[in-house]
Amino acid sequence: MSRPRHRLFVEAPLGADAAVSLTDAQAHKLGQVLRLTEGDAVALFNGRDGEWQASLVRAGKKGLAARCTGCLAAQRQPAPTTLVFAPIKAGRLDLLTEKATELGATRLIPVTTRRTVVERVNDGRMAANAVEAAEQCGRLEVPEVMPLRRLDQVLGGWPAALPLFYCDEAGDAPELIAAAGGLADGPAALLLGPEGGFEPDERRLLRGLPFVRPVSLGPCILRAETAALSALALLGAARRMADEHGRR
Ligand code: SAH
Repeated sequence: MSRPRHRLFVEAPLGADAAVSLTDAQAHKLGQVLRLTEGDAVALFNGRDGEWQASLVRAGKKGLAARCTGCLAAQRQPAPTTLVFAPIKAGRLDLLTEKATELGATRLIPVTTRRTVVERVNDGRMAANAVEAAEQCGRLEVPEVMPLRRLDQVLGGWPAALPLFYCDEAGDAPELIAAAGGLADGPAALLLGPEGGFEPDERRLLRGLPFVRPVSLGPCILRAETAALSALALLGAARRMADEHGRR
């Protein structure tokens, strides 16, 4: 069964012969934009039931629905990877959300810190960007987008067993890829500061928390979105290397 070109994230349950209704926006994208029609195949995933090939069927005048015809892949859950970050201006936040999804983030937590310049985050826009990126890059689930909260609120309820790699540009911390060496598929989190960095007392507080591990992303001072994507890429590499090592 050759894999359909177009993939859609749906909320509905997926399974043999399951009928799946599509939203007007999905029907518009498939029918009007991609010019697909009944009988054409699409791939559907919902984050729970794996990926299914489905055949488009007419639903009303302009509507489209789908009927599952075969399972393309069993559900797999990626290593739990949380990105805690100080939000940046909308355009760059779109890019960060898209790239973080491509790079395996499973939960996005925007936080306000002392020097955060952005006071509001459009959760719906972030979630839509994450869905689109997951559809494009072949993931079987979509990262969870959490509402904007203050950093101290997020740290207050932090699970002690979850390592929080605090990306610190001061340069006196171990490389992330070394600090995350033994992780493999274990849960992990990354913390990135705002464009102005963290205040000295924020850094002191962070370094005093037992679950926080300061890490370096190299000698350059990276822009917030560059640092987030670099950290996710390095964490992914550290996990795969540990996995490979484990398999030898
Ligand atoms: N305070 C910096 C700018 C902060 S960059 C300045 O003086 O201009 C935004 C965030 O990216 C930082 O808070 C940090 O979390 C991360 N970051 C940037 N470069 C980094 C590096 N080389 N190592 C680790 N983290 C880095």
